[in-house]
Amino acid sequence: SRKPRIVVIGAGYAGMMTTKRLTQQLQHQEADIILVNKHNYHYQTTWLHEVAAGTIDPNRVRIMISDVIDTKRVQMVYDTVTEIQPENERVILENGELSYDYLVVSLGFETATFGIPGIAEHAWKIENIENSKAIYHHIESQFTKYASGETDDDTALNILIGGSGFTGIEFLAEVVEKVPELCSKYDIDESKVRIINVEAAPSILPGFDEELIEYAEKNLADRGVEFRIGTKIQECTPDSFIVGDDKEEIKAGTVVWTGGVQANPVVGQSGFELTKGKVNARDDLRAPNYDNVFMIGDTSWVWDHENDKPYPVNAQSAIQEADTCAANLQALLHGKKLSSFVFDNKGTVASLGKGDAIGTILDDYKLFGKKARLMKNVIDNRYLFLVGGPKLILKKGKVRFF
Ligand code: FAD
Ligand code: NAD
Repeated sequence: SRKPRIVVIGAGYAGMMTTKRLTQQLQHQEADIILVNKHNYHYQTTWLHEVAAGTIDPNRVRIMISDVIDTKRVQMVYDTVTEIQPENERVILENGELSYDYLVVSLGFETATFGIPGIAEHAWKIENIENSKAIYHHIESQFTKYASGETDDDTALNILIGGSGFTGIEFLAEVVEKVPELCSKYDIDESKVRIINVEAAPSILPGFDEELIEYAEKNLADRGVEFRIGTKIQECTPDSFIVGDDKEEIKAGTVVWTGGVQANPVVGQSGFELTKGKVNARDDLRAPNYDNVFMIGDTSWVWDHENDKPYPVNAQSAIQEADTCAANLQALLHGKKLSSFVFDNKGTVASLGKGDAIGTILDDYKLFGKKARLMKNVIDNRYLFLVGGPKLILKKGKVRFF
C-alpha cells in the first residue's frame, strides 16, 4: 500500500524546522515527505531589515535548501502555492498540484495594510529578499538622482518609516548606520538627509519594557532620527505619508511601511477563517475543522491559556511550534494522542544596528548595548545550528571565529 504523504508548504523557520524534525524522527517507510517552496533557497526573515538598508550582503541571508535538508529523504518541489483545497486534500501550485494525507501550512506572513489608502500601491514593504533588496536599490537611486542634479528637492533624500514595532526600529537603526556611507559615496551633506519614523501609539515599540524603549528612542534620536509618535498614518502617496487629524503631509523620496503583519494571503483565499489576519489554530496546532492540516508560524495564533491571550508570533515561536508539529504528525501516523503546544519564551532581543541592541531575557532581565547585541548573535547562530549544524554557523553566522 502507498505510504502516507506529508506535504509541508513554505520553507521559512516553521517549515524548515518541521521538515528537519520529520527527517530525524520518521523512518523512511513511515511516510513520504514533500517540501514545497517558492525558491530553492530558505532565507533569514529576521535579517531582512539589513537587506533593505543595504547593510548585509543578500547572499548571506539565503541558505540553499539542499545544503541543509536531506533531499534523498525529502522530495523538494520548487513552486508557488496558489491555493489550498482542504476538502479535496490538495494543494494547487502555479505549475501543477499535489495531493496529501497530512498538510503543514507554513507559508509565513505578508505585511498588513489595514485598508489604509495608498499603502498597498505606494509604500515599500520588508517581506522577502526581493522586495527588501529593491528598497535598498531605491534608497541608493534617490541619492544618485540628487547627486547627479536630476533633482534638487532635498526631500528626495528623506527616508520615512511608518510603524515602530520591532521591524521598524531594527530597520531604522540600520538606515542610520548606512546613511553616512551613502553621503560620503555621493558627496552629499549628511544634514540634508532626514530619517523620520511615524508611530500611531503613544510610544515606539508599544508594549515593550519602558526603560528599554527609552534607551532605544534616545539612542536613535541622538543619531538623528526624528520620531513622530502618537501620530496616525491616514494615507500613503508615492512620496509621502498623510498623518494625523490635520492631514499633515510628510514628504520623502523613500516611504517604507512596517505597520504590522498577517497570514500569507493564500490562507484566507483558501477559505480558512481569519481572526485579526491569522487562523486560530487548535492547541495541538491543527487548523479548525481539518484533522490533517497543521497551521503554524506566522499563519496562525496559538492560545496561551495561562495568560488568556495568544502566544507571541515570531521566529522563536515558529521554531518551537515545528517541534510540536513534527511530534504530532508522528502521533497521528501511529494513532497516538496529540500534544498541546506550550511556548517557552526565552525573551526578546532587537538589534539597534551592528553594535547595539535591547532585550529582555529570563522573564524580566534587561539587556542593552554590546551585551544585548552579543545575545542577538547567539540567538541567530542558535537557529543556524538547529537548521544546518556547526558548518552553517561558520558559513553564515554573525560571529566570526577567525
Ligand atoms: P517566513 O519566515 O515568512 O517563511 C515563509 C516561507 O514560505 C518563505 O520561505 C517563503 O518563500 C515561502 N512562501 C511564501 N509564500 C509562498 C507560496 N505561495 N508558495 C510557496 N512558498 C511560499 N522574530 C523573532 O523571533 N526574532 C527576530 O529577531 C525577528 N526579527 C524580524 C525581523 C524582520 C525584518 C521581520 C520582518 C520579522 C522578524 N521576526 C523576528 C519575525 C519572524 O521573522 C517571523 O515570525 C517568522 O519569519 C515566521 O516564520 P514562518 O516560517 O512562519 O514564515
Ligand atoms: P508590529 O505589529 O509589531 O508593529 C507595527 C507598528 O506599526 C505598531 O507599533 C503599530 O502601532 C504601528 N502602526 C500600525 N498602524 C499604524 C498607522 N496607521 N500609523 C502609524 N503607526 C501604525 O509589526 P512588526 O514590527 O512588523 O513585527 C511583526 C512581528 O515580527 C511581531 O511579532 C514582532 O515581534 C516580530 N519581530 C520581532 C523582532 C525581534 O524580536 N527582534 C524583530 C522584528 C519583528
